[in-house]
Amino acid sequence: SFSAEVVPQAPEDALFGLAAAFRRDQDPNKVDLVIGAYRDNNGKPWVLPVVQKADDLIRSDPNTNHEYLPIAGLADFTAASQKLVLGGDSPAIKDQRVASFQTVSGTGAVHLGALFLSKFYNPNTHRTAYFSDPTWPNHFQIFSNVGLPYKTYPYFHKETRSLDFDGMYSNIQGADEGSIVVLHACAHNPTGVDLTQDQWKRLAELIKQKKHFPFFDTAYQGFASGDLARDGWAIRYFVEQGFELCIAQSYAKNFGLYGERAGCFHFVTSPSSDASSTVSRIASQLAILQRSEISNPPAYGARIASKVLNDPELFAQWEKDLKTMSGRIIDMRKALRNKLEELGTPGTWNHITDQIGMFSFTGLTEKQVLHLRDESHVYMTKNGRISMAGLNTSNVDYFAKAVDKAVR
Ligand code: PLP
Repeated sequence: SFSAEVVPQAPEDALFGLAAAFRRDQDPNKVDLVIGAYRDNNGKPWVLPVVQKADDLIRSDPNTNHEYLPIAGLADFTAASQKLVLGGDSPAIKDQRVASFQTVSGTGAVHLGALFLSKFYNPNTHRTAYFSDPTWPNHFQIFSNVGLPYKTYPYFHKETRSLDFDGMYSNIQGADEGSIVVLHACAHNPTGVDLTQDQWKRLAELIKQKKHFPFFDTAYQGFASGDLARDGWAIRYFVEQGFELCIAQSYAKNFGLYGERAGCFHFVTSPSSDASSTVSRIASQLAILQRSEISNPPAYGARIASKVLNDPELFAQWEKDLKTMSGRIIDMRKALRNKLEELGTPGTWNHITDQIGMFSFTGLTEKQVLHLRDESHVYMTKNGRISMAGLNTSNVDYFAKAVDKAVR
């Protein structure tokens, strides 16, 4: 019989534990650089104006109801999601080579993909997934929960605080043929360091040579540079090269729909005469998996995103909102670097402006991170990652001075 006493205590989620410690801290100068969620210049969550508009339209529509969505989700939403991530004129869409399922945000998309691969990917040969070191920590748990083994490839060069492309390349080259390679499409979490287009091209060639399977995680399209096509470039390039691949897409950051859990999973097959029949078989299996796990996805966030993605005027407004968010973050990167250089803080700080997206890997040591928390009430993860969105014109100088003290 089951004896509940044998269940061991699991550690608290590091990120959400830190967020709770921040809430308990009573210091008026406390700074929260932990969670990857956008804040405006007043340190407050920001409802995108375009999301507010779409929300008003949906709520005032007498046809809005609370019925179940289909198992694959809202069709207008998944179709628009394909166009967003692959480009409107993608031959993969035209040839009906894409199976798309609405998911419980990006996490649900990574999970659905991992679950699908655990059932169908090379059952008798190599099916190890390779993650960047470091990566979004949830990758490890999601893949191990579905029983897929994983390893890591080098990604970050500690000394230069930039990409270790040679390390990454030779590790992926050494991996067993046909491995799964998980890639952050842009704005790598946690380092903020991305491949150049040239490096993506070299990597694509290698992955093709080794018959690896690319699994893209895209959680920051448009949020990183403010330019949807630029942030989507790597995925579109791989699809152009004829890869079979899958994509986990999140709308948490680029729509500010964190808690609404809007996301999409796409499986793209390579061009062939029976591609659309392959896609239909894949979709039929995804439907079974989705049904047993969530039956059907949550409607609200997808309705909002769909409204915006399918209306040219709202879409244009969204692109403006994306520029507002990415622009403020880029400004904060400049302000932080300037202040640290002005203070003469030991070390080099160009990486702060070289990195992109929500996060910066500061290079601060665990000891310095703890010093910052204890002495200055500044909260960040112990790997030295900061969420740039937690900085604003009122606290960036305070933060720079706190870093200066911790480093000296
Ligand atoms: N993948 C990466 C790399 C992320 O950084 C995140 C969010 O932090 C996600 C996926 C998924 O987030 P969500 O489930 O909130 O869409």
